[in-house]
Amino acid sequence: MIPLIDLKKQYEAIKDEIDAAIKQAVGEAKYILGPAVKSLEEQIAAYLGVKYAVGVASGTDALLLALLSLGIGKDDEVITTPFTFIATAEAIWNIGAKPVFVDIDPDTYCLDPALIEAKITARTKAIIPVHLYGHPADMYRIKEIAKRHGLRVLEDCAQSFGAEYKGRKVGAIGDVGCLSFFPGKNLGCYGDGGMITTNDEAVFEKAKILRQHGSRKKYFHAISGYNSRLDTLQAAVLLVKLKHLDRWNELRRRNAFIYAEALAGNKTAKTPFIAAQVKHAFNYYTIRIANREEAMAKLNRAGIGNMIYYPLSLHLQEVYAPLGYKQGDFPKSEQAQQTVLSLPMYAELGGEQIKNIAEVLA
Ligand SMILES: *Cc1c(COP(=O)(O)O)cnc(C)c1O
Repeated sequence: MIPLIDLKKQYEAIKDEIDAAIKQAVGEAKYILGPAVKSLEEQIAAYLGVKYAVGVASGTDALLLALLSLGIGKDDEVITTPFTFIATAEAIWNIGAKPVFVDIDPDTYCLDPALIEAKITARTKAIIPVHLYGHPADMYRIKEIAKRHGLRVLEDCAQSFGAEYKGRKVGAIGDVGCLSFFPGKNLGCYGDGGMITTNDEAVFEKAKILRQHGSRKKYFHAISGYNSRLDTLQAAVLLVKLKHLDRWNELRRRNAFIYAEALAGNKTAKTPFIAAQVKHAFNYYTIRIANREEAMAKLNRAGIGNMIYYPLSLHLQEVYAPLGYKQGDFPKSEQAQQTVLSLPMYAELGGEQIKNIAEVLA
């Protein structure tokens, strides 16, 4: 039995620190926007090398509030990838803006910068690259396009906290970064949580108001907002885990290396591509495999966790039928949905287990 992810193992390794932090936060009784939230915001801003960070209720809310903080709303267009978790497009859709999809680079599974400009219209306001599976999108080219057309760049870093692109941490490269602390992410809490990161003071100020019912001062409401705060208890957990993040991400990269060696002789499996000058965060270890059904059946029989991220591109989802996309619109994304398969990946996963997984796939 090798699960896709083993959160219990991680907890057991840091149990004393976590239990003490939870006990302290509960004892302090400042459950909403307590001291741990502010500390975490400061530490994450410093970790990424940005000026500001705002803790919110989830990664999805981070995207939503970040878009609103950039002044994006009804009838605006936002360019993003169809090969991502629904939340990326959902945030655009739910503020009344229109997601405009652009196909992916089949190597990195991220937005293909060469295809972006053809989709820019007078209504386009922003681009949301997603650093899928933990591999950074081609940020310099995306930023250059954005600059030329006066667009904002919002990084979806939900799967890539700690990843680097040309020596810079993702989440610190675009105008805004959005983090998710969903339990299975590189830095996960024990429930839902998220964060907005930016160097833009106006975005910071607006995001802080939006997460608190649109109020700067209690019971005075300047704009219509949300209840979307990161819990103090979750922040206390995250403060402990943040200290381990770099080590965990190194272990993920080590495991990816072991996988690549172990799968090197397998003609049906293609291991992940890693661009030059990139540090992959390997939130997921995703291969392409020719005979996917058969491979999944073998893994399941051996008790090895596996998952398809994602089986249906967003342009083909029922919810976005009103956008009028059809099969064949984004061939690279559709090809990916048919061939990708994610294998167990976490810091505590051992080399022997990886070799075992490769043998099952052989
Ligand atoms: C997980 C995820 C989100 C949303 O994060 P939540 O914290 O679950 O709301 C957004 N985008 C991507 C790419 C994700 O993987």
